[in-house]
Amino acid sequence: MAKVENQIIDLTSRLIQIPSVNPPGYTVNIAGFIKDWLNNLGFRSEVREYAKDKPNVIARVGRGKPVLILNGHMDVVPPGDETKWVYPPFSGKVVEGRVYGRGATDMKGGLAVIMTVFAELAPLVERQGSGTLIFSATADEETGGHPGVEALVRDGVLIGDAAIVAEPSGGFRYYIGEKGLCQVKLVAVGRPAHGSLPILGDNAIMKLVRAINKAEELINEFNRGIKLPSELIDAIKNSAEVYLEASRASGLNLTLSDFERVVGTVSFNPGVVRGGSKINMVPDHAELELDMRVPPGVSPNQVIDYLRNGLGGMADVEVLDISEPNYTSPGETIVRLIHEGIERVLGVTPKPIIVTGATDGRYLRARGIPTVVYGPGELALAHAYNEYVTVEDLLRTHDVMVYAVKRFFGLEK
Ligand SMILES: [Zn+2]
Repeated sequence: MAKVENQIIDLTSRLIQIPSVNPPGYTVNIAGFIKDWLNNLGFRSEVREYAKDKPNVIARVGRGKPVLILNGHMDVVPPGDETKWVYPPFSGKVVEGRVYGRGATDMKGGLAVIMTVFAELAPLVERQGSGTLIFSATADEETGGHPGVEALVRDGVLIGDAAIVAEPSGGFRYYIGEKGLCQVKLVAVGRPAHGSLPILGDNAIMKLVRAINKAEELINEFNRGIKLPSELIDAIKNSAEVYLEASRASGLNLTLSDFERVVGTVSFNPGVVRGGSKINMVPDHAELELDMRVPPGVSPNQVIDYLRNGLGGMADVEVLDISEPNYTSPGETIVRLIHEGIERVLGVTPKPIIVTGATDGRYLRARGIPTVVYGPGELALAHAYNEYVTVEDLLRTHDVMVYAVKRFFGLEK
């Protein structure tokens, strides 16, 4: 046990010491390190590069079904103002049971855990002929995962019967779904005139303001009609508890039902507004960039149709970016095994969660691969200054994953 513990701590620390900041998201060095690490243990791996200097590393052992994918991304977000870090962001310093640095939680800790689990169990899977285990360290998750998991799934490299994505859920929780993305632009067009005689023009800013208010009303109305998949009701309640807990630190006076609403309905965030060119002109153009996140059971296209119909001629609705919400049924084998692992190994009844942001899990689910997100770290620490992961959580998630993977392949009753 002590050997595994030291290996995970050391790996987490070394992965942090190899910067892979995105943007630009170059993964040449870290992919090289992982490839060598696997090679030294006798595992062959393959490198696939879909964008320059953004290689992915994939190792595969055993043959036939079932196929289980372990996945983690190698890129991290920028460290921001380095003077705000107690320990330098790429130190990987280990202090009092914590490993510090950019990516400790999101998700070099998780990568270290799946690398270790792979190294331990791949020989067993191979020897017993019980299926195929795939390890994948991928690029570009922080900016959409297009030359990473998306390309690997499209090429048939990451195809399997189940997947574990080791993003930070924390040892006692796991994620079964995520909201989808619906980002649109509302565009109002008017007629220009001199600012001293506004009655001769048609003010696009005023039209946009009315359209924004109307859009908010429409989304509220749409939300009243949403029917969530019944198997997700508990997960949405659990998520609300987690977000409420995390919000306490900021001193906001929000309630559980506020968070249930934000997780289980379409959220509404006007993010950017532009319009007009001069104070003494009646503006003929104004636009809003609107970010909405849609819960499982709702398609972004339904929301867009609803807005278009409801706004009529008030403003045009242009699509900026959409992605479907997605989830894996709590009844799927891989989800049940992680659930059971947390119960039996850690002695805690875990809570499945839906997250409001997107992970690479969406590409796997889009191909029908049951996917559970489970890994060390805390959501609140991802992308934060002084990011760290606790050694305890690294070990917890490792032990639960070993439990789940062994049973997935029938290596242990
Ligand atoms: Zn991540």
